[in-house]
Amino acid sequence: MAVYLLHFSRKVSHARHYIGFTDRSAEERLEDHKSGKGSPLVRAAHSLGAKIRIVRLWPDGDRNFERSLKNRKDARSLCPLCQELRRKARNRAARRRRKKLEVKNT
Ligand SMILES: [Zn+2]
Repeated sequence: MAVYLLHFSRKVSHARHYIGFTDRSAEERLEDHKSGKGSPLVRAAHSLGAKIRIVRLWPDGDRNFERSLKNRKDARSLCPLCQELRRKARNRAARRRRKKLEVKNT
């Protein structure tokens, strides 16, 4: 039994994540999704050629927990991959700002 978070390598009708529940392993469930026996969103992501990764797993998560995560409507903040990308983008922006200052001060 587990709750899992999927990250798509591209957006699918404005979504980049899917939160689901399974009483088997998340890997098995993902295969279900890909073969069409699951969420229409994940099936669409797969047929659009998006890479789908299991980025988080809550091994003891139940249906209620799945619901509470979905209700947050902010899967991105739960996704380690997106957080990493965001952190890198912030660092890049900071570096650009520093560079500008250096140029100004010379
Ligand atoms: Zn993500």
